[in-house]
Amino acid sequence: MTKPLHISFYTLGCKLNQAETAALGNEAEKNGYTIVPFEEPADVTVINSCTLTNRADRKTRQALYQAKRLSPDGILVLAGCFPQINPGKSAEIEGVDIVLGTRDKFDLFAAIDDFRREGLQEVRVSPVNNRDRIASSFIAATDRTRAFLKIQEGCSNFCTYCIVPYARGNPVSREFGNTVSEAKRLAAAGYKEIVLSGIDIGAYQDQGKRLIDVARALETIDGLERIRISSIEMNTLSDELIRHAAASEKIMPHFHLSLQSGSDTILKAMNRKYLTADFTQKMETIRKYIPDASIGTDVIVGFPGENDALFREALDYISDMEFSYLHVFRFSARHGTPAATLPKQVPEAGRKARAAILEDTDRNLRQTYASRFFGTAQPVLWERCEEGLCYGLTPHYLHVSAPGEPAWRNTISTLVLQADHLPSENG
Ligand code: SF4
Repeated sequence: MTKPLHISFYTLGCKLNQAETAALGNEAEKNGYTIVPFEEPADVTVINSCTLTNRADRKTRQALYQAKRLSPDGILVLAGCFPQINPGKSAEIEGVDIVLGTRDKFDLFAAIDDFRREGLQEVRVSPVNNRDRIASSFIAATDRTRAFLKIQEGCSNFCTYCIVPYARGNPVSREFGNTVSEAKRLAAAGYKEIVLSGIDIGAYQDQGKRLIDVARALETIDGLERIRISSIEMNTLSDELIRHAAASEKIMPHFHLSLQSGSDTILKAMNRKYLTADFTQKMETIRKYIPDASIGTDVIVGFPGENDALFREALDYISDMEFSYLHVFRFSARHGTPAATLPKQVPEAGRKARAAILEDTDRNLRQTYASRFFGTAQPVLWERCEEGLCYGLTPHYLHVSAPGEPAWRNTISTLVLQADHLPSENG
């Protein structure tokens, strides 16, 4: 009997990439592979790459180099956004045996078989808007207790700093019926929470069905207790969905809205589709219907042209809006994007200093928001239990921990929240 092949994965970038790797892992096990940690030698190593920033490109190359050193005789696969943007360069990287674009990732096992049979480098990078290839990329990835259901792919917003539309193509939505049946399959498999994910999820559109219709359909599924909407563009989050979420038992009171900057001057330079007044209005609408909603955001500091006054303006706006948490990113000039050649690039030291200020702000915002729930009974979905401590997630996206039993895992129970239930990495 042939020994099952050992396969390892290394993932860079966004939640969607993480979800796709998890799905490839599920497929690998179905194909008889044994998954081993990236740090161990393997017969096949898959680097699921990111190309959002130059730093991501460097990290992709470092991972390839590390993989080849660990498994000199193993098959090395470079997949995802890096080869989608740079197919030629990818094929030239020493030691890379298989190159798969964003639409071709799920050809992985066929490509491995062909490579093992022919011994010739396999390069499969389909045109990014090749619709025939999209269906295979609609997957559901499962971590311990929460399933990430990818329902949308691609984006056509072309923010000036972003390479994603070039790497992942135009917006495409998963077929509605297929989405609902996949959610039913996940609930039947025991997942209590589904996270609806995509690149521009608010753009979901299939045969007249919109994101709110997906949420409504998932609410009717027995056994599915929680529906969480992952990162969504503010201008695509409808007031109707907010009102519906307010009345829903299952849709979580948590919205991750990407702001990117609190300065209108910078928002225009980013080609974002709103200004701060629009953003304020959306947050007020959320707080009108769901007063204690968790509203998190992404912020880029050091965008070209962001002088001290504009940074101050942005910082004041962010503090005034009292977000629940921030994800802070330093601008990185991404080759191939308009922002990379804009004048008035901010020096690295300036970007670093501004990021540190916002990370401080983030710590205070998280503490302030979490303290609103101290002394209240919160239903927690327990995700993992180790050494007598269980870790879980509240509806308001608070990561908590408490002494508990392994049997708590994948159950929902009430916790009266106290300050010491909040691990330092909350949120
Ligand atoms: S909305 Fe903007 S930042 Fe987000 S993926 Fe699309 S182009 Fe990139």
